[in-house]
Amino acid sequence: MYTLILSIILMTTTKITSYTLPILPYPLTALEPFISEATLRNHHGKHFAAYVNNLNRLVPGSEYEGLLVEEIVQQAADGPIYNNAGQVLNHRLYFEQFVPVSQYKAPGKRLVNAINYHFSSMDAFKRQMTEAAMSVFGSGWVWLAVDTEGRLQIVKEAGGGNPWRRGLIPLLGIDCWEHSWYLDYAFDKIAHFDELWNIINWEVIESRLPL
Ligand code: MN
Repeated sequence: MYTLILSIILMTTTKITSYTLPILPYPLTALEPFISEATLRNHHGKHFAAYVNNLNRLVPGSEYEGLLVEEIVQQAADGPIYNNAGQVLNHRLYFEQFVPVSQYKAPGKRLVNAINYHFSSMDAFKRQMTEAAMSVFGSGWVWLAVDTEGRLQIVKEAGGGNPWRRGLIPLLGIDCWEHSWYLDYAFDKIAHFDELWNIINWEVIESRLPL
């Protein structure tokens, strides 16, 4: 009886009835000059919002109704529901991971140790992330992700892919879609990837590392 009540509570509390656009945790101008107000306004308020709206239109009545975006990303067949769930998850993690330039803090010891262990140095890690981002052909993502054994790895994803699909936990994402950089950097894509390091909120990245 107790188990039944508990499972009913869990079912009613975890059932998702709609997906919402998270509010940005900083003002629209906070990431300038690295991400402009105009880019942030479009990227969050139009692109991300569109993925949320698409998911709310596609999921009701489907077999994925009531699931978290992480569950859809893991379970859905390739197609519009998977693509939009991936982009909702990707952009939630992406916009959460930045900090206003004035509040930037160096990464903490636990994260630095893990990065040094797997990539030999923070500089080498950043270089490999940028190289991976530059090698994404067309739209996609590059992620720092961690597996269940605690091993860090750089993962390239096409389209709206997210490492959750292959059982990895995403820690830090670089959006390689043109909408994330073209307005500010035009043909100088590599400058955008290089300069993102000035606004990474390392506390958020570290908080995504499982204990
Ligand atoms: Mn994007």
